[in-house]
Amino acid sequence: MDFETLCVHGQGELYHTTGAVSVPIFQSATFRHPGVGQSTGFDYARLQNPTRASLEQIVAQLEGGTDAIACSTGMAAVTTVMELFAPGDHIIASDDLYGGSHRLFHNISMKNGISFDFVDTAHLERVETLVRAETKALFVETPTNPMMQVTDLAAAARLCKAHGMLLVVDNTFLTPYFQNPLALGADVVVHSGTKFLCGHNDTLAGFLVVADPALSERLRFLYKTTGACLSPFDSWLLIRSIKTLPIRMERQQETAGKIAQWLAGAEKVRQVHYVGLPTHPGYEVSKQQARGFGAMISFVVDQEETAVRLLERLSVIQYAESLGGVESLMTYPMLQTHADVPQAEREAKGITECLLRLSVGLESAEDLIADLAQAMEGDET
Ligand SMILES: *Cc1c(COP(=O)(O)O)cnc(C)c1O
Repeated sequence: MDFETLCVHGQGELYHTTGAVSVPIFQSATFRHPGVGQSTGFDYARLQNPTRASLEQIVAQLEGGTDAIACSTGMAAVTTVMELFAPGDHIIASDDLYGGSHRLFHNISMKNGISFDFVDTAHLERVETLVRAETKALFVETPTNPMMQVTDLAAAARLCKAHGMLLVVDNTFLTPYFQNPLALGADVVVHSGTKFLCGHNDTLAGFLVVADPALSERLRFLYKTTGACLSPFDSWLLIRSIKTLPIRMERQQETAGKIAQWLAGAEKVRQVHYVGLPTHPGYEVSKQQARGFGAMISFVVDQEETAVRLLERLSVIQYAESLGGVESLMTYPMLQTHADVPQAEREAKGITECLLRLSVGLESAEDLIADLAQAMEGDET
């Protein structure tokens, strides 16, 4: 089946025979055993739930995995992955990561005895120099949040294979519609399902997707033990959302391209980071490994006052954290997603008072551009 068809029908008719076109919400925490030592395949909802299993089957197919594990949030998914590692292990990670992953690694994983090196993974030769005997994994986002750096995933996978490391890829920004890291050699795909997969700014979710059955078994064990599972109702919301993923991604990307071009010509904008601009350093790699550029833009304005004015005056675009939804959102990484990253580290990455991040939604391009223009103009008289 094609991607679009899987988005609509990928759950099959797994667990019910009523003909219901919408997957039922199986609001049951536990399941009756048919006999001693027997199971319907469902025992207790922390382990399995039919609504969640339907969603997991869809996402596994979209990412080309054998298993997808639906978690309560993206951070629950990342936390579950980190339980694969033991004290003494070393991990190399992107130096431009979602702020929550940065916080998890620094405050919890390190306390648990795992050490890290952070590096710009767009330069894999820099990654290679950091590999040592204890290095167990490379953790990347591509494009990164918020600087939009692109990592060559196939080359990263070759490097990891050569050194016996796992390649973990956070695929939140592009979704399986535009990019399939497993097909490029990644071992684990992480998603914040809260973002484009949900797409409506109304539900939190996360996913882990793998191709290797042994890795799936290890992660399933950690998942049932730590309890990071997605509820039946939220699973149903995600099933419903994914049906429109392809058309949302297409339109949001198209509008993002128009806005990126407009920003590139705007008087008060100094720099635009959008992977779909041919001037972006990751443009060529991105064209090889992904089918699209997504709908996330970050940009640098001339001064702090312009950034503040934008955030306060925008009216169609809302000043809020998060991304990937039908509503366009403007985020101030310095004060929001990356507030917990130490200032020197933040500024070295370019996350300054002049950097803004825009998640482009489904409003008309014309309205969004008019909104940016009116908010940027201000009254300097
Ligand atoms: C939001 C986000 C996360 C965390 O997901 P939650 O659902 O908010 O827990 C992880 N990675 C990226 C790239 C994100 O944007």
